[in-house]
Amino acid sequence: MPELRRDPVTERWVIISEERRGRPSEYRPAEEFAPLAHCPFCPGHEAQTPPTLLSTPGPTGWQTRVFANRFPALRVEARSGITSTELYGHSDGLGAHEVMVESPLHSDEYATMDEAALLSVLTGWQSRVRDLSRDERLAYATIFKNAGAQSGATLSHPHSQLIATPIVPPAVLDRLDGAARFWRRTGHCVYCAMAAEAERESGRLVWADARALVFCPYAPRVGFECIVLPRLHESRFEWADAETLAGVASAMVRLFGALRAALPRVSYHLAIQSAPLRSALSSADHWYVEVMPVLSRHAAFEMASGMNIVSTAPETAAAYLRERLPGTP
Ligand SMILES: [Zn+2]
Ligand SMILES: [Zn+2]
Repeated sequence: MPELRRDPVTERWVIISEERRGRPSEYRPAEEFAPLAHCPFCPGHEAQTPPTLLSTPGPTGWQTRVFANRFPALRVEARSGITSTELYGHSDGLGAHEVMVESPLHSDEYATMDEAALLSVLTGWQSRVRDLSRDERLAYATIFKNAGAQSGATLSHPHSQLIATPIVPPAVLDRLDGAARFWRRTGHCVYCAMAAEAERESGRLVWADARALVFCPYAPRVGFECIVLPRLHESRFEWADAETLAGVASAMVRLFGALRAALPRVSYHLAIQSAPLRSALSSADHWYVEVMPVLSRHAAFEMASGMNIVSTAPETAAAYLRERLPGTP
């Protein structure tokens, strides 16, 4: 059974899940995906995955399909509750771990998917989060995507995942604390403020319309890090309206088109940052999509110091992406 453990120094939680050793890719070099006789995510192979929890209709059956991860990092059957000793905190590995196949087409990627296809992904996850948020044992739902062989993805067929945890993850707590501090100091949302600054003068704006913008943050963690921010100030992804989601999907079409032209075949990590489930709404918080290309491996200095060395300035990255934006469809 997986478990959660709290470090006594940093108080950061980790998930210990040895069951995932069974993942088929575990000891394969990351250079390329193993050739598959047939892909379990392709249409017609639905019986090779756990049962469908949710699907959205597409031209040839389903467009997206969600099911429980076969090798879950956390399980819904676990007991809830944290026990603490003087030194450590412990919780059974309660949670949910789901996979979404994002397209029926094996070789699709975000750069080749249109606004409607990306919108199916966003609305599918929205309904899964709404459903899971009824389980009061769950505190947070992280939606994330590993894309490309350098990202940790184990299958090339386009897919993303959701892990719901009984605690709010440490990086999310840090983000919420930072946004709340900025709000108390200035009376403004830090994300709205960053977007306004990016539009005014910074050279870090990649693309914008009336519904959403794409920009490279001032102090990125990796080269070509991008934020897709809905203009509507709203803390929760799961309650974003259809127009806002369509705006985000449309911005993602632009961003991934430009990324593919700028950095062909680049692997990347993507996550949706949102408020904790059922928490009191905080006016300081603003949901968004973050995209972090995998351009270099973190090394000892980064691990020891928590400071990343980024070799492309965000102003350079944004200019490079702006020049490669796909034409308006
Ligand atoms: Zn496939
Ligand atoms: Zn805002």
